[in-house]
Amino acid sequence: MIQLEQNINPEQEIIDKLKVYQDEIDGLETFELRSEKAKNIFSTRNRIGNTVFDAIKVKLTEMCSGARRCVYCEDSVADEVEHIHPKDLYPNFCFYWDNYVYACGNCNGPKNNKFAIFRKDDGSFHIVNPERGMKATEPAEGNGALINPRIEDPLDFCMLDLSSTFKFVVIAKAGTDDALKANYTYNEVLRLNEREFLRKARKNAYTNYKSRLGYYTTQKFAGDTQDKLDKLIENLKQEAHPTVWKEMQRYHSKGILENIDKDLNNLFIKSPEALKW
Ligand SMILES: [Zn+2]
Repeated sequence: MIQLEQNINPEQEIIDKLKVYQDEIDGLETFELRSEKAKNIFSTRNRIGNTVFDAIKVKLTEMCSGARRCVYCEDSVADEVEHIHPKDLYPNFCFYWDNYVYACGNCNGPKNNKFAIFRKDDGSFHIVNPERGMKATEPAEGNGALINPRIEDPLDFCMLDLSSTFKFVVIAKAGTDDALKANYTYNEVLRLNEREFLRKARKNAYTNYKSRLGYYTTQKFAGDTQDKLDKLIENLKQEAHPTVWKEMQRYHSKGILENIDKDLNNLFIKSPEALKW
């Protein structure tokens, strides 16, 4: 899961059109009607050829840190407009730009309408999605307990173990809301540790990033032009699993990379500019 680029927004015209769609939902009397309406009209509007959603997809693509990959697994191509606050639980955020991310079907499908909050009244962690097959009911008030990559950096909550397992480890202090949020997001909703192929893909990405940095460093000292080097940097940024790269940088900056991969650590010493890519 990767934090998305900030300050990327559609034209005001698109935001205004979303508001017109949203008004169709907000005008309905009961939560049940609004929830049903949100589900129905979202699927009819979110189609290729709908100018609003065509424009939204362009902006969601710009938000991806490199290639157009799913914000959650960072592996598959992103091709579904996903609501962080599920639309049947939060019909008021159905046509709301800040509630959108680009995800893949493998993540979006199982995530479905899973959501939890920290209740406003007593601060407790509370799952708000209905049981399978049941209708959504209006959630209690509270802040979302799912990490929001539009405004939060998932790496503040977890660290990727680059030394062996390539699993995410919660770094938020045990017992805190942040730890609950990290565990709920990574393990319960998105299953980012459980899905074996993702662990393998992260390990593979580590090797790819390292070899790209190695090649860049060799070519730099061989006197390649900046133009050629820029292309190598661009290619590196298109790799899948950008979190792996961010962790490689963080491990170096924290001084822990030396103990697990001396060669890679030396590459960062020889090419410190790579810490900013
Ligand atoms: Zn995905």
